[in-house]
Amino acid sequence: MAKHILYCKKCKEYTMHETCPRCGSTALSTKPAKFSPEDKWGKYRLQYKQEQENSEK
Ligand SMILES: [Zn+2]
Repeated sequence: MAKHILYCKKCKEYTMHETCPRCGSTALSTKPAKFSPEDKWGKYRLQYKQEQENSEK
């Protein structure tokens, strides 16, 4: 059982189950990912992280 409220894209309904009880597809976390204002920095963060990892080797 999931702790957070999840969302089924197919049914456009919220569920507490990790699997949508209606259609059986995987319910997703409701936290915004793609449309977050932070997201445009995502690739820079990733790049930074990779540089950090490379410098450690
Ligand atoms: Zn569903």
